[in-house]
Amino acid sequence: MSVFISENIDYSEAVRSRTAEKLGLDNTPSGSHIANMRRVAAAIFEPLRREVAKGPLAVTSFYRSAVINRAVGGSSSSQHTVGEAIDIDADVHGGCTNRELFDYVRERLEFDQLIWEFGDDRSPDWIHVSLRASGNRGQVLRSVRRGGKTCYLAL
Ligand SMILES: [Zn+2]
Repeated sequence: MSVFISENIDYSEAVRSRTAEKLGLDNTPSGSHIANMRRVAAAIFEPLRREVAKGPLAVTSFYRSAVINRAVGGSSSSQHTVGEAIDIDADVHGGCTNRELFDYVRERLEFDQLIWEFGDDRSPDWIHVSLRASGNRGQVLRSVRRGGKTCYLAL
């Protein structure tokens, strides 16, 4: 049986984690986490897939349990741990660029946090987008590596 988070994201894709597989860790979201994921998928991913990529679009990280998030070096306040954040990489299928995704989210969609993840001035390596049920901040950041650490600059 296949459980869908949205029309084009199935459950197994949304909880897949190479770190979880490698370390034998469980990555099962709760019911409220799944509700958050469905909101993000419907309001962020599906419009990007339909309007910008116009075809397959890769989700590179969605839900990560707190344990897995620590193992991958994620921020302890990461919204991935509650299913409110998604990482999307247009370069996997090539239907559009990550910059086009970034610009569309910034200009057209409601979001809590949008991050231009690394890359260069032309395009990020991937985008991170989060959405809450309410109280969305519309915060736009760019991540850069400085001295082995990840810093976030306001855009
Ligand atoms: Zn992310």
